[in-house]
Amino acid sequence: EAKAQGRNRVMGFAWSMKERFHRIHEIERGLRSAIAEGQMELHFQPIFDVKSGRIHICEGLLRWNHPALGAVSPAEFIPIAESIGMIEPLTQWVLRQACFAAVQWPEEIRVAINISPASLRFGELPRAVIETLMESGLSARRLELEVTESIFLHDDGQTHQMLRALQQIGLRLVLDDFGTGYSSLSYLRSYRFDGIKIDRSFMRCITESKEDQAIVSAVGHLAEALGMEIVAEGIETAEQLQYARDAHIHNVQGFLMSMAQPRPVIDAMIARRMTIGDAMASELRQAR
Ligand code: C2E
Ligand code: MG
Ligand code: MG
Ligand code: MG
Repeated sequence: EAKAQGRNRVMGFAWSMKERFHRIHEIERGLRSAIAEGQMELHFQPIFDVKSGRIHICEGLLRWNHPALGAVSPAEFIPIAESIGMIEPLTQWVLRQACFAAVQWPEEIRVAINISPASLRFGELPRAVIETLMESGLSARRLELEVTESIFLHDDGQTHQMLRALQQIGLRLVLDDFGTGYSSLSYLRSYRFDGIKIDRSFMRCITESKEDQAIVSAVGHLAEALGMEIVAEGIETAEQLQYARDAHIHNVQGFLMSMAQPRPVIDAMIARRMTIGDAMASELRQAR
């Protein structure tokens, strides 16, 4: 019996590997035509200024509705797009969508997009950014590029140079998911980010964990001292929001206020000048 089970396990494993392989293949194939077929959408998640309560930045997040697989998460397809050299057209498409959306919003609202490390090693990015800013009419200071700490790994200087070139255009560079990867305080000194986003893993247990409270508050002070704007990601409860306030975090993002929304919804939120308070009140209404 143990032997039969062992065989089943092996077969089960083999089968799921086969399934997994099939799925990756489907995603690879689908990615090549997803933009042309209109399957991609850029949604926007608002980031609120804690003091004024108003929307300060909107982060573009890719959504892919695959005809057979349904919704595929960017956490799954972005690494695959990188591996087959499809990240460039995706990044450029996202950049366009973001700039053409943001130029319709009030001046004080910025737009952020995520840039994968592969795009930073590819020399075309600054030119693409300049062209898209010119075509859309968006001013550079209203655009933020979010990069993760993985860019520090194996940076032979090329990424650093690329980031400088991008900053010279006048846009803002933000370090995403801070604290989870290869952070070192010396990177904060030499790369000169305009902002950091403290990873949501530090917010998850903040109401119970003295350690997380200490870390968030220290990072808040560090950001302030270095002149960087700070965002707390993954705010899901009113208690977490209060801790962020107490730690002098400038900006908050999370499901408590809003998930990423399609363009018409985010446009409406901006038009009615939605605040943190409004967002929480409507959450409560929905929960009842
Ligand atoms: P990220 O840049 O750190 O984006 C934040 C992720 O956390 C998003 O997931 C967002 O929906 C989710 N999130 C926001 N608030 C909360 C919250 O309160 N609780 C929880 N549990 N989650 C929250 P999403 O959209 O699935 O994106 C996952 C990752 O995929 C992003 O992480 C980013 O690294 C990558 N990604 C998304 N769009 C793009 C893109 O256009 N280009 C590139 N290169 N990467 C992208
Ligand atoms: Mg991000
Ligand atoms: Mg993040
Ligand atoms: Mg993340």
